[in-house]
Amino acid sequence: MPEISVFTVLVLTALNLLTVSITLPLLMGRRISRAARLSQLSLLSQAGGWLTIIASSFWVGHWMDWALSTATMVLASLAPYLLFLALAEWLGPRPGKRLLQALVVLMPLGYALLFPHYSQRVGWANFLLAAQLLVVAHAALHPVRPAQRHWRWLLGACHLLVALFTLARGVLGAFFPELYPHFQAPHPINIGAQIAANVALVLTTISVLVAWRDEAEAQLRTLARTDGLTGVLNHRAWHEQADAAFAHARRHQVPLTVVLLDLDHFKTINDRHGHEVGDRALRLFGQALRASVRTDDLAGRLGGEEFALLLSNTPLASVAALDRRLRERLVPDALPSLGFGLPFSAGAASIEPGDTRLRALLARADQAMYAAKAAGRARLVLADVTSDATPLTPPAA
Ligand code: GH3
Ligand code: MG
Ligand code: MG
Repeated sequence: MPEISVFTVLVLTALNLLTVSITLPLLMGRRISRAARLSQLSLLSQAGGWLTIIASSFWVGHWMDWALSTATMVLASLAPYLLFLALAEWLGPRPGKRLLQALVVLMPLGYALLFPHYSQRVGWANFLLAAQLLVVAHAALHPVRPAQRHWRWLLGACHLLVALFTLARGVLGAFFPELYPHFQAPHPINIGAQIAANVALVLTTISVLVAWRDEAEAQLRTLARTDGLTGVLNHRAWHEQADAAFAHARRHQVPLTVVLLDLDHFKTINDRHGHEVGDRALRLFGQALRASVRTDDLAGRLGGEEFALLLSNTPLASVAALDRRLRERLVPDALPSLGFGLPFSAGAASIEPGDTRLRALLARADQAMYAAKAAGRARLVLADVTSDATPLTPPAA
């Protein structure tokens, strides 16, 4: 079998990394998320690391060797950190950030100081780099919710692989320097580490691309569920989620309340101030709604100037307080920015033992809302509560 030249594999790794770091930004375009940008920078940083270590081999014994090798360590330790930051954006907070930050500083610093002592500097740099890679692998494999996103297994596995080779190279350099006298030494572990770096590059690139696609898909999903003007759920999404919440409340016999809200004399607002001001008023109302409800409540725009709230675990009696909060919030919000207030009529109804469909609840809330209009607008009316105190019956199987 012909001997594998470590230098050749090294140059190939650097070229592959450079190609990927140039191609990815061109492919992904300019308007990408922070996470996608960070993962691109991580690959670029790795490419820089390999290029500087190759360059350093032309300056052995010169102070440039020290400068270029230290630059290699700075870039090599920056790469996992940037990827970690990308993971935290894509998957939510990841454990080990402080440790990684310490390692990013200590690895190149120790290397630069220990430079005259070959085995110490090689041991130090490789052990600390392996630790960094393990933190990244752990961050990728750390549970996420929802549990999908299979790309993280790929990313975790390849970082684990490279970490193990890096650890082994550290052992070689620290305890058997005669087997590993320089970074191009053709020791099987060194050759394996180079090949692992190449494989990891391919898998990391695939993972980043899939993560980027997942992200775009999630954004599209959110967009499809959100009302573009007001930022609350659109008609379809509100009904879908409200149906699920209704079924849950019925099954577990917990209170659930629906509030329908309709802006008063909105047509007059449009006629007097123009459609654009009308749109601003709707946007403001949407913001006020979102700010007034809890995270597990649903705020939606059912159409035009009609909105709906679904309040989980909330009895009818609690709606008055929410209604008051919303009206109080609208006064300082609407008056200064629009020049007029935003009165609305609201009708609320709660789940009753006989309700088998959300529709029944909505019909009662609608009636209550029209009663509020009839009674002079700018008020809340609670739907008639039956005196029947029998507990909710679970749905038939
Ligand atoms: P009421 O107090 O009885 O509810 O009177 P109203 O004028 O609010 O009700 P009506 O149903 O007569 O008018 C609703 C108006 O809302 C008419 C429509 O032009 C306006 N509207 C619906 N969607 C939008 C929108 O997206 N932007 C703007 N600016 N206006 C809208
Ligand atoms: Mg109206
Ligand atoms: Mg209306």
